[in-house]
Amino acid sequence: MTGTVYLVGAGPGAADLLTLRAARLLAEADVVLHDALVSDEVLALAPQAKLYNVGKRANRPSVDQRFICRLLVRMGLRHAIVVRLKGGDPHLFGRATEELEACRAAGVPVVTVPGISAAFAAASALRASLTSRGVSRSVTFVTPSRGAACPPDMHWAEAAAAAETAIIYMGALQAEAVRDALIARGVPPSRPVALVESASGKGERIIRGDLANLPNLVTQLGDGPAIMIVGEAIAGARAILKEASAA
Ligand code: SAH
Repeated sequence: MTGTVYLVGAGPGAADLLTLRAARLLAEADVVLHDALVSDEVLALAPQAKLYNVGKRANRPSVDQRFICRLLVRMGLRHAIVVRLKGGDPHLFGRATEELEACRAAGVPVVTVPGISAAFAAASALRASLTSRGVSRSVTFVTPSRGAACPPDMHWAEAAAAAETAIIYMGALQAEAVRDALIARGVPPSRPVALVESASGKGERIIRGDLANLPNLVTQLGDGPAIMIVGEAIAGARAILKEASAA
């Protein structure tokens, strides 16, 4: 019997940032294949399901993407409701394309469910808008990280340098390269930077500084996932107040 595979966004960590749709699917799921970043609190919403941890973390042994695709298809051919639970939103840096294709090729119906991406949990932690009138009307999501098969282009750096607010996923291990690439493309070294670790989760931590000292800021991070935001907008209320008084 062929079931349906749901690629579901688990949100950034806190279980109550899951969508109601995601919570309902978890409660009904026969099988859940989940990322390393999905919290126990979220997995507890699927007590009846068989759980498979197919997680990947930077610099650690991880499950091969082809294996995940094969397992997903195998489960979809055998069970009614298969949830593939991904950190944040599945449509952003989540390898959804490969998994969608694998299901389509095998004739397994597949549906995606959006989630709150780390960028939005980080903005919330900072209590800062990613766009501020007069400060930023462009936001870009980039990563310097690339798979072995990807060409070593610098489009991510060009996009990040061109945006007023740049949100950098999976960049903490390459902080020096990120700083150098952005400064080389004209971003002022004094532009504010915030690192948010484990946004919305138990160990949430914020480290602030500027682009010039990004590599030092990164050394203060712990073991949780971290996202970097570069832009005047995250200086938040301070920048806006300064601007208002200058006007
Ligand atoms: N699809 C996910 C991103 C997956 S890539 C999303 O939409 O959020 C994994 C990267 O996301 C991590 O290396 C880190 O940069 C970021 N990330 C994920 N969860 C995070 C969290 N709770 N706090 C900070 N960064 C996080």
